[in-house]
Amino acid sequence: MTATAPREEQLWSRCAGCASLLYRKRLRRNLDVCPECGEHARLGAPERLRQLVDPGSLRPLADRLPEADPIDFVDVLPYPHRLTAARASTGLVEAVVCATATIGGHPVAMAVMDFRFLGGSLGCAVGELITRTAERALDERIPLVLVTASGGARMQEGVLSLMQMATVSQAIAALREAGLLTVSVLTDPTYGGVAASFATNTDLVLAESGARMGFAGPRVIRQVTGRALPEGFQTADFLLRHGQVDMVVQRRSLRGRLVALLAATHAGAPTRPSVPRQEPASHRERLAAADDAAALPPATPEADGTAAVRDAWDTVRMARHPGRPTTLDYLDSVFDGFVELHGDRLGADCPAIVGGVARLAGRHVMVIGHQKGHTTAELVARNFGMASPAGHRKALRLMRLAARLGLPVVTLVDTPGADPGVSAEEHGQAAAIAENILALTVLPTPVLAVITGEGGSGGALALAVADRVLMLENAVYSVISPEGCAAILWPDRSAAPQAARALRLRAPDLRRLGVVDEVVPEPPAAAHDDPAETALRLRAALLANLLPLLDVPPAMLVRLRRQRFRRFGATRAGQRAGVR
Ligand SMILES: [Zn+2]
Repeated sequence: MTATAPREEQLWSRCAGCASLLYRKRLRRNLDVCPECGEHARLGAPERLRQLVDPGSLRPLADRLPEADPIDFVDVLPYPHRLTAARASTGLVEAVVCATATIGGHPVAMAVMDFRFLGGSLGCAVGELITRTAERALDERIPLVLVTASGGARMQEGVLSLMQMATVSQAIAALREAGLLTVSVLTDPTYGGVAASFATNTDLVLAESGARMGFAGPRVIRQVTGRALPEGFQTADFLLRHGQVDMVVQRRSLRGRLVALLAATHAGAPTRPSVPRQEPASHRERLAAADDAAALPPATPEADGTAAVRDAWDTVRMARHPGRPTTLDYLDSVFDGFVELHGDRLGADCPAIVGGVARLAGRHVMVIGHQKGHTTAELVARNFGMASPAGHRKALRLMRLAARLGLPVVTLVDTPGADPGVSAEEHGQAAAIAENILALTVLPTPVLAVITGEGGSGGALALAVADRVLMLENAVYSVISPEGCAAILWPDRSAAPQAARALRLRAPDLRRLGVVDEVVPEPPAAAHDDPAETALRLRAALLANLLPLLDVPPAMLVRLRRQRFRRFGATRAGQRAGVR
């Protein structure tokens, strides 16, 4: 190695697309697009901002937040060590840079994600910073421009990172209500929780040439389906062909397009209108997990004898137990007069979501839930409770119908996650989930959610943005499956039990974090052992939580719901929730 080697590396770089050796300065002048093959290299947030905004107009927003390791997460490294390393290597405080600026003379608030920082993952700080940027846009009545680059939610912050999808979405909803433009620019790569929230629930979605966007990543889909993926799967052109983005834009045209869009939508000042990653597991693994869950040790009482708390991994197995009551079981045992409503009105009816009108102690409600099954045949027919985009759109239709009819919504959440499949991606899984999350943040009717079994990532949250969130004692709620988390961070799927503990996914943990309002106790041996007693307890909890909501005016409900999800930002996380 000679002394000139580092210098050589700075002067030249190799194109990831065509392997041409390119003069670094020439590449930068060409906006980091290869002059030979057109490959768009990934940009860090500072360089992205430099390319997009008017020179001298950038006003960075504060990016220092209280240090947060809300669940004291440790995999092979403590989370704070990973954060420190990311800061040292990027020079950034977090995975997003926020600012106000002008683009072609139009004032905007901007949040630009940086994939170099822990894969652009969405944690409490990132969610808080983007939310503040959106709130700044609202205060100043200017458009919001988001540039996304992310692998998804940040596993190391557990379910609190999942909550950020709701927090940011409701800020977007507020801009929508105020008649202010929101634009997202998808850059490579945009996946998971970011794709399934603010990357796709904005007014306009632009995809940079070469960007890939999806809910589930290609590796996961290949693993689950066991099939090769179609050519160009999840690329910008694929997204355009499947109606998921407004346009695909070359990097050199991006600024010009933004200027044109900002100018077009600025014609006439905005007026206030008259009136918010999938886990890798094959079907066979899911069936094996269900078998495994059928033989479980009893809960061991705590030393002080107060409560019997199961080990996190045992709880996961309990939550997946094939004998556990399903949504249709509860519709039979807890509710009366269920009338099932089918279809998304767009061409499909997803069997993994069931919904319809029913009565709870004589009151009419809309019930929507994931449906699993007790036998292999049922599980396969219901796709293991993993909803397709059609399922999410059916749920959305029923939520809106409930609001129109003045019916409260009760959701029963029991899903390993949203469907990780080729067709689901083609039909806009990310945007379907994102729209549900946003719609729930502003739905003008009471919403009560119960995590009854598995609360798996964005697929669960799409039914769980609610005024009150209840959780059965042996249910779990997590940003990622323990197996998926273990495969990525340890990296070894057999570390799933350790990952389950690190993720704080049990009901008592989530109650302490404020994600869950009330834990519904199960009979001593668990729900599957005494479904009738479980139903009685669930019914009592539903009534106790729903009745007070019925007296709250809808506008107040929405305001309080927003406050509930606003508080999961970094400030709260920084206070530490004292979970052990
Ligand atoms: Zn090239």
